[in-house]
Amino acid sequence: MTDAHLVLVSHDGEGHATGVVPADPDLAQLSVLDLAATRGDGVFETISVGAGHPQAFAAHLERFARSARMLDLPHPDEGVWGDAVHALAERLADHDEAWIKIVLARGVEGRSMPTGWGYGTVAPDYRRERTEGIEVVLLDRGLRSDVAATSPWLLAGAKTLSYAINRAALREAMRRGADDVVFVSSDGLLLEGPTSTLVIRRGTELVSPPAELGILPGTTQVDLFEAADEWGLTSAIEPLTPAGLASADAAWLVSSVRHAAPLRSVDGVARAVDGELSAAMNGFLRRRTH
Ligand code: PLP
Repeated sequence: MTDAHLVLVSHDGEGHATGVVPADPDLAQLSVLDLAATRGDGVFETISVGAGHPQAFAAHLERFARSARMLDLPHPDEGVWGDAVHALAERLADHDEAWIKIVLARGVEGRSMPTGWGYGTVAPDYRRERTEGIEVVLLDRGLRSDVAATSPWLLAGAKTLSYAINRAALREAMRRGADDVVFVSSDGLLLEGPTSTLVIRRGTELVSPPAELGILPGTTQVDLFEAADEWGLTSAIEPLTPAGLASADAAWLVSSVRHAAPLRSVDGVARAVDGELSAAMNGFLRRRTH
C-alpha cells in the first residue's frame, strides 16, 4: 500500500486560512461543484521532500503566493501552509525521496470560501532519467515571448491547476517517441518543459531562460545556480534559441521531485549527456535540507 497522507487547510468566509486538519486520502473530500474540479481555477505547488525535509520550501511558498496573486485568490497564510507541509513531511521522513502537493482553489462557485489541501507520498524512482537522460521534442506553445506583459489574463508563468495543455503536450511527445517537451515561443525562443525548467551548459556557464518570457520561475534552477560555483561554473539568465540548445555542451530539464534530467536527444538528434555534472547536481538536489 502507498504511504500517502492528506491534510485539509480550512478557510473562513473572508478567504483566510484558519487551520490544518488531517484527513483520509482514500476518501472523497472535494465537492463536485468545486471550481478546482470544474474549471481548474486554482494554484498549486509540488515540493520535493528529502528524508523529511521539504526542499526549497520558502521559494515554493513565495511562488504559491505569486500564483495566487495572479489569479486574484487570497494570499496563502505562510504559517498555516507551513504547518500543513511540515505535518506531511514529518510523516514521510522514513523515505529518502517523497513529494507534497499543495493546492489552493477558488472553492464552490458562489461561496467565496477557498478550498485548500496538501497531499504527500513517496516519489517515483527517477534514477534512469537522472543518469541515462531523457529524449525531448521542441513544441510550439503558440504564444509570443512577450505574452506575460501583453496578456496577463493568459496567466503565463502562474502555476495553475489548468495543466491539461501540459499533459497534452506530453502525450504528443510520447506519440513522437520522446519522453518530454521543451516549449518554444511563437517567435522562436526556448521556454520551459511542461513541468520543468530548461538549463544548458555552455563551457563553464549554466544558462536558463528568463521568467519574463512567461514561464514559471523554477525553484530547482535557482538552487542549482546558487550551487554552481561548487562545480567551477558560473550562471546566467538569458534568452535561448533552438540553435543555442543544439550547440550547448549539455542540457537538462530540472524540477522538484525528478530533479536534473539530462537531455540525450532533441527532436531525434542525439546529444551528449554530462554524466558527471548530472550526478553532482542530483546529489546536491537530493541532499538539500532547506
Ligand atoms: N515550469 C513548469 C511549467 C513547471 O510546472 C515546473 C514544476 O512543476 C517547473 C517549471 C519547475 O519548477 P520547480 O523547479 O520549482 O519544480
